[in-house]
This record gives sequence, C-alpha cells and structure tokens, in this order.
Amino acid sequence: MLRIAGIEPFSTVDWPGKLTCVAFLAGCPWACPYCQNHAIRRFEVATLGEENLFDLLEQRRGLLDGVVFSGGEPLAQEGVVQAARHARELGFAVGLHTCGAYPHRLAEVLPYLNWVGLDVKAPWDAYDEMTRVPGSGDLARQSLELLLGADLAFEARTTWHPDLLSADDLSAIAFDLAARGVDNWAVQAYRSLGTSGELADRTVQATDVPADLPSAFGHYEFR
Ligand code: SF4
Repeated sequence: MLRIAGIEPFSTVDWPGKLTCVAFLAGCPWACPYCQNHAIRRFEVATLGEENLFDLLEQRRGLLDGVVFSGGEPLAQEGVVQAARHARELGFAVGLHTCGAYPHRLAEVLPYLNWVGLDVKAPWDAYDEMTRVPGSGDLARQSLELLLGADLAFEARTTWHPDLLSADDLSAIAFDLAARGVDNWAVQAYRSLGTSGELADRTVQATDVPADLPSAFGHYEFR
C-alpha cells in the first residue's frame, strides 16, 4: 500500500534524460528549512493510492521511459519496495529520489531501481542542524555508501541556500563526495516555491560555486 500525495503524469526534469511519471509519496521524517514539498511532509495528506499510479502506468506503456518515486521521502513507506518491483514487472525503468533516511529500505529496493537521486544536504557533522533530526547524517552516509557499492547510476545533489551553507561548506561536501568516488554531483539553487517560507528569499548563481568544484566530478550540473 502506498500513500501518494500527487502524481505528475509526464516529467522531463525528475530523471535527467528520461520521460517519466512521478509519484509524490506523502510523509518525511526530516524537517529541512528549504523543503519544497513542505505541504506533503505529513503522511495524512495522501489522497491517492497505488491503484491510481498503476492505472496511469498501464495507460502509458510505451509512452514513458519510467516512473520516479519521489516525496516527501518515498522510503518512509515500506510499500515502495513492492511498488518498485511491480513497476519493473510492467516494463518501466524505476527511479528514486531519496534523502537517505532509510538505508535498510534502500537496500531492499535497490534490486528494482535503475537510477537514484540522493540528497547530500550538508557536511556530515552539520546534518542534524539541517534536518533537525539527530543522527540523520549517519543514515544519509550509509545510504551513500550503499549506492557507491551498487551497480547503479546515481546523482548526489545538494540544495544551496546561502544562509544554510557557506561556499566552504559546499567545498567540504564536494571534496568528501569526490574522495568517496561519487562521479555525478548537482548543485540546486534554493527556490522558495513550495517551502514553508521560513527562509529569506535569497538564492545563488552558477558562478557562486567555487571554481575548483565542478572539475572534481565526471559529471557536474548547476540547476
Ligand atoms: S528530506 Fe526532503 S522531503 Fe524531507 S524535509 Fe528535507 S527536503 Fe523535505
């Protein structure tokens, strides 16, 4: 059983290079101040079930490359493992957006995934402050290590609000990721749409990223 807050039938931006349907699963245990899905962080806001998703997928066979499970935090729901397997059985590639809060469930769902976008929110020792949940950095790091050990394409992505991360913080994140073997990193400029509004409406440009960071990765993107 899945609790779904919304479905985007066609997306070209949620899995780079793929045309996908996106299921936004309700609920997330963390509380990042820049969260763009603030309204669906509670599980109770779900109005759709997995039947809505799979009805849509049945209609879109041959028209979509795949489906992305997003959120909220999709791995907060144990039903996502079965749903990912079912989507693969229907012939869809499966992508996942995750904050890394559930490494044990990530391990369960890995066999059914084709691609993952993993948030890397802060230097590991500053994670709890960003998520407002003690121990969150250890969980995210475990998830990253799982992905590095899997034969699976993934992107690490960092959302940057200048009041939350300094340029030095961004450098610390980037060089840690590169040293661990991450090859694909994206910096996402903060946008206020969908947030709780608690942050000052400031953002960053591509040129604000320290110049030595992009070359530390085989693939780098600012968006
Ligand atoms: S982990 Fe993601 S969904 Fe959860 S609060 Fe943070 S940004 Fe929002």
